[in-house]
Parts: sequence; C-alpha cells; structure tokens
Amino acid sequence: MSTLRQNVQTGWNFDNSYLRLPGIFFSRVNPVPVREPQLVLQNSRLAEALGLDTETISADALSGNSLPGGAEPFAQAYAGHQFGYFTMLGDGRALMLGEQITPEGDRYDIQLKGSGRTPYSRGGDGRAALGPMLREYIISEAMHGLKIPTTRSLAVVKTGETVYRDKVLPGAILVRVASSHIRVGTFQYAARFGSKDDLGVLADYTLGRHYEGCGDEGSRYLCLLREATVRQARLIAKWQLVGFIHGVMNTDNMAVSGETIDYGPCAFMDAYHPHTVFSSIDTSGRYAYGNQPDIGGWNLTRFAEALLPLIHNDREKAIEAAREVIEEYKKLYYEEWLSGMRAKLGLLNTEEQDERLILSLLDIMDRHNADYTNTFLSLTLDRPAPGSLFGNEEFVQWQLAWRHRLQRQEASGKTAADLMHRSNPAVIPRNHRVEAALEAASNGDDSVMHRLLDVLEDPFAHTPEQAVYGALPDPSACPYKTFCGT
Ligand code: AMP
Ligand code: MG
Repeated sequence: MSTLRQNVQTGWNFDNSYLRLPGIFFSRVNPVPVREPQLVLQNSRLAEALGLDTETISADALSGNSLPGGAEPFAQAYAGHQFGYFTMLGDGRALMLGEQITPEGDRYDIQLKGSGRTPYSRGGDGRAALGPMLREYIISEAMHGLKIPTTRSLAVVKTGETVYRDKVLPGAILVRVASSHIRVGTFQYAARFGSKDDLGVLADYTLGRHYEGCGDEGSRYLCLLREATVRQARLIAKWQLVGFIHGVMNTDNMAVSGETIDYGPCAFMDAYHPHTVFSSIDTSGRYAYGNQPDIGGWNLTRFAEALLPLIHNDREKAIEAAREVIEEYKKLYYEEWLSGMRAKLGLLNTEEQDERLILSLLDIMDRHNADYTNTFLSLTLDRPAPGSLFGNEEFVQWQLAWRHRLQRQEASGKTAADLMHRSNPAVIPRNHRVEAALEAASNGDDSVMHRLLDVLEDPFAHTPEQAVYGALPDPSACPYKTFCGT
C-alpha cells in the first residue's frame, strides 16, 4: 500500500518544524527495531483528538518498526542541571517521530520513549521497561483528568525483548504526546554550546509555538521569560493542590510550555507532610513536596540565565530585567496556590484571615498524619473526618471556624459545595493502587489497570466506584519508594 494511502487511512499528518532549527539541536536517528511489538494500552480518545484512526494504527508503527509516512525520526539535544549539577544530556532513549497536525490545526510532538540508543545515550541501553512506561501512562492520564497541564500517553507497546535493570524486565515503548519537548535544558544547551544566533532561533521558535502573544517587539524574550514563569507558577500550584510530587525536577525535566513532563519517580502524597519524598535517589530531599515551589523558581532562574544574551546586550541591564521577572514568580505561585486552596474550601470571596485558616488546617493535618486528599474529601462530602482527625478537638474547632467563614460569604451553600466538588478529587492514583495495577499487568491481567484508568478519567465525578479508591494503603505498604529504574 502506498504511504500516502496508508496515511489517509491512519490519519498521520506530520509537519516537522523542529528539523528546521539549526543542526546542533537534534540528531537524525532511526528507531532500533524491536523483536515482537505488541500493543498493551491504547488511548482511543486521545488518538481521535489527534486525528488518528486507532483501528488502523499498528503496533509496528507505534514501536518504530515501521515509520508512518512523513515521520522523520530525530533525537533532541539538551543539557540540564541534575540535582543542581550541569550536565550534557539529550534524548538518550527517545525519538521524535514528528509533529502531528490535528484536524483542529494544533501541533503535537509524537515521541517514542524506549526506542533504542541515540548519540545522547551515554552509557544507557536506550530502552525502557514495561512497568515504568505503564506507570507514566497511568499517572500522566490521571494528571490530565485532574486538569493539570501534562504530556499525554497515546500507547504502550511491549517490545518482546527484555531489558536489564536490577533484574530482567520486559521491555516497552511509550508513545508520548506533548505540545512540545522544549525544556529549560534545551535553552541551557543553546546558551552553553550554541552561538547567540542559535539561541535566538530557539527562542523565536518557542515563542511561535507557545507564546505567540509576545509578538515581535524588542522585549519579546523578556516576555517569553515572563509568560513561561506564569505557566510554571500555575503548574506547580496545581501540583501542590493535589499532592503531586514530581520527584526529579531537574531543569531538563521542566518543559517551557508549562506541561508536566518526564514522569519518573513521581508519586502522590498520602498523609500531608511537606517533607515527603518518594524517590529513592533523592536522598537529600531536594525535590520534596514542600520544596517544589522553590525549585520551580530555581529552575526558572536557570532559564533566565540562558536567555540573558537575548534580553539585552548589556549584561547588567539584562540581569536587572530578568531579576524583576523572576522575583514575580513567588508571588504568582502563592496567589495561584491561595486561590486554589480557597476553592478547595468552598470560599468564593476573599478575607484576610483565609491564609491563616488554610495554614492552620495544613498544620493540623501535618501533626496528625492526616491523609491530604481524604481530609478535603470529607469536608467536600460533609462526612466524618478520616482517620486520626476523627473526633480530634483541634480539627473540630477548625471546622467551626471554617463553617463560620462559609456563612459570612454571600454565595449559597450549594454554590460553595459545587466549587468544592470541582476542586477536590474523589480519587488520585494512589501508590498502592498503581502498584497493584502494574503487578497484575505484569502477570498478564490488564483488568486492574483498566479499572484504575477508568476511575481516574474524571476524578471530580464523585461516583460510587471512585469512593472505593479512597481507601488508604495497608500501613505495611509504607514508606513507599519509587525508583528511577526506568
Ligand atoms: P530522566 O531521568 O528519565 O529524565 O533521564 C535523564 C537522561 O538520561 C535523559 O537524557 C535520558 O534520555 C537519559 N536516559 C535515561 N534512561 C536511559 C536509557 N535507558 N538509555 C539511554 N539514556 C537514558
Ligand atoms: Mg528527563
């Protein structure tokens, strides 16, 4: 069958603008074929939105064994600060097939993760294991359900090969979809290894893809910094509001688009403690839950440094202008977080004491080991407090103060309750549920994973099925650890 006919059937419609950037930004490389590709998960709704026909898209195409017409595979070059240290990186086990133009005219990167070695693989095998790829699929789709900007997952394909980590594991490829894969680390790479022209081309390209509103005026690079800062502040506030811990917020894992990217050792917090860390490699707690907002600021400062040559020819002036923008970040973040917290508590207007009310709730949760999601859920559903907060005098007093606060606002009780239903998820991808789904899948039973994906699709629906997923893990399952062992 001709490629053209095949594409008409399957819906692939590539335009690979990234390849029009200077050559230093990528390496053209083909996926390394896999032995026996077999589709494990497929996101039909996302496929449809992309204009793809899932009936005719084969595991061969999703594994890289055959290339859809118009695909021009390449690996992206980037650098980044990993746990504070600058390193040259790049897609070591991922390839872009190209940018899919949807029927609506939107542009999305289609990336294969686990597609084999590239010039940036360093010592790695270029492959990925099934468990972590299914995990990324589940958590990224859960984030989408939670209305948090994120890369998406189109499919997981088993390769029919094994990968060697601390043990022998089945190999897999994740088909990832993103509004782009331009990272803070891509700018760091350009600033360190490219010319000023290269940096300018990358910045203009990024503006065109994500920040068209910045226009063409002289200060557009400062505008890029400002707008990316706003999106990052919003994103991290949303993470904090649902208890999401990214786990490895290196600058190469921060997308300039403001989407959550690179799901590795991420996990959701159960009991509220700001110092919570799940990642086995984050021994110092650099990326602990409570540090995420500050790390966001740290990463944006690295972004600003990379942009300095474009912001102004006079370095001092550039620093001054960039500093003003970065200083806004903390405030932007805090405002987003505060208004999100107000929504979680059903508050539609603002009062000066709201901050104290919110912080005292968090303090009670912290000291009494209260489950973050379920505490807000009990307030939303007007249910008895969960676990250790049940009958707790401090919490009873807090609730009284909160109820008085609700009564002082003009909005009706119904309006407040609706807002809380929309702001507090009935279900999050709890670690023990995700593990159970992965465990069953590794034994050939995908039904547990499908049920989990179903309830995570709309976490604000508050259905009876979702209620079951509020149950906490057996205490013996704690403390939970996640591994980068990808
Ligand atoms: P991550 O921690 O997943 O964000 O990856 C950090 C860097 O290591 C990126 O440049 C990845 O492409 C690279 N990398 C991770 N795993 C592998 C692997 N198995 N083979 C080659 N490169 C890898
Ligand atoms: Mg990464």
